[in-house]
Amino acid sequence: MNDRQQLISLLTGVQSSKKSYYTELKKMVTELKKKNMQLEIINDITKSFNIDISMDEMMKNSMDKLKTIFPVERISLSLCENHKLVLTNVYPAHSLYFPIGFVLPKERSLYWKVVQSLEKIFYQIEEDEDLYVEAAVYNALGVRSVLLIPLISKGKVIGVLSIGSKEKVVYDEDDLSFFQQFCDQLAVCIENVRLYNEVLTSKKEWEETFRAVSEMIFLVDLEGNILRYNDAANEFFQVDLYKKDICKLLSINPKESPIVEILETKKSVHRRIHIQQRVCELRSYPVLNEKQNMYAVIMYLNDITEKLQIEAQLVQSGKLAAIGEMAAGIAHELNNPLTAILGNAQLLLRSFSKDDRIYKLLFDIYSCGKRCKTIIQNLLTFSRQDEYRFEDCSINDAVEQVLGLIGDQICKQNISIQKRLDASIELIEGNLQQISQVILNLLINAKDALEEMDIPEKIIVIETKSIVEAGEHWVVLSIRDNGKGIEEQHLQEIFNPFFTTKSPGKGTGLGLSVSLGIAEAHGGTIEVVSELGKGSEFILKLPKKK
Ligand code: ADP
Repeated sequence: MNDRQQLISLLTGVQSSKKSYYTELKKMVTELKKKNMQLEIINDITKSFNIDISMDEMMKNSMDKLKTIFPVERISLSLCENHKLVLTNVYPAHSLYFPIGFVLPKERSLYWKVVQSLEKIFYQIEEDEDLYVEAAVYNALGVRSVLLIPLISKGKVIGVLSIGSKEKVVYDEDDLSFFQQFCDQLAVCIENVRLYNEVLTSKKEWEETFRAVSEMIFLVDLEGNILRYNDAANEFFQVDLYKKDICKLLSINPKESPIVEILETKKSVHRRIHIQQRVCELRSYPVLNEKQNMYAVIMYLNDITEKLQIEAQLVQSGKLAAIGEMAAGIAHELNNPLTAILGNAQLLLRSFSKDDRIYKLLFDIYSCGKRCKTIIQNLLTFSRQDEYRFEDCSINDAVEQVLGLIGDQICKQNISIQKRLDASIELIEGNLQQISQVILNLLINAKDALEEMDIPEKIIVIETKSIVEAGEHWVVLSIRDNGKGIEEQHLQEIFNPFFTTKSPGKGTGLGLSVSLGIAEAHGGTIEVVSELGKGSEFILKLPKKK
């Protein structure tokens, strides 16, 4: 008998008499099933972090399994946030008493006791007791016993898990150790999720900042392929830029690309480039890995056309203001002696007959004096730049004003000016001084274009007329020369600030950009037609006064 019992106990691990053998075996199978389920629960929590399921789902899964081995009806999770304990999840949802997000008070709180002691608490609730604030909740929900376990990560309490049952349960050592393991695993997962979200948020923040910067930004590999770019770049180029060649995109000679320069100098490179008739500032910086080897380049591209145009206007109006100030001073000084010269010459003229030789000399003095007076007058009117008031004005008046100022100077260079002004031209609403400034710039350019030409007749034709185009009434001024013309590749660039083909002392490259700025401020535009070696025509179009 003894041998038999020993054999059974060896084979099955069950030490029992035959009578209780089946009961013992059944008990053992139940124990094993329970252990299995416990392992499954722990496993589930670990997995859930990797497959990115929500905390609610994880609570549901755990609860469904817990229910099969323990009399558990409710679990809730409260997490520590900024020294507060906040209720974050409850399962099942109908066992909610406080709302999610509820901040648990510190006084007389079982939960806080767990947080402060770092120890788990098993508590059985007596009816009508109000020792702890949570008692009312459990009474209302019909919960009779709760197990509260601290969630500890790196020695710090990060929250409390509460496991509630509607009956008075008894947990043995094994059960409690399982719940402890369950909570330790849960704490690790919660902390991981928190860290992961922190990384994700800061990644998102960086990405959003990168995308939102108003300058265009490109990350380019050393072969010049675009790896990343922001919204501003997308908006400017309006095409998919991924893996596109940056040199092609920015019309840069690959041999002179900033990447080549940075590879040589290991320093950042700043350049000004022209793209699609815009002036852009290009700043390129090396991107280094931990071993300080360059593996990519960051390029910032900033469209500075408007800024340059405003700067150019400022420079020009600054210059004109200086001329104006000087002219006013000179005019003041010259006006008095001129009045004396003119007055005396007029007096003397009366004493001589028209055939007299001296009369002719005196008349010369008189007419030259008058011319000086007109020039001073024109200079004064022209340079009065301080007020840009818009009023009704005639483009013909602007032409006359400018011709009064530099007409003679142009004619002295053997250039004939042909005026074809439409006397019935419509008025515009604008600033006469600014329009005169445009005409002056266009005339000087036409004169310069004719300067080195070896042709029998150098001509500038100034024409004004009114036209109707697409139902709009326009006042048009055209200045045409038969000078050297403009190379086709330059036609795109002549309106860019600082673009000049003239020698440094002569050209600033500001005239046309300022002129275009003025025309646009008047609701108009400037067009150009040119043929190399034959001449150019600049057409200023302004809307007629409404
Ligand atoms: P700048 O006269 O100081 O060079 P602009 O902006 O007025 O500056 O002109 C830019 C360039 O456009 C000139 O350098 C010249 O190459 C070209 N250009 C302008 N007008 C003419 C013209 N009538 N004929 C030929 N080239 C012209």
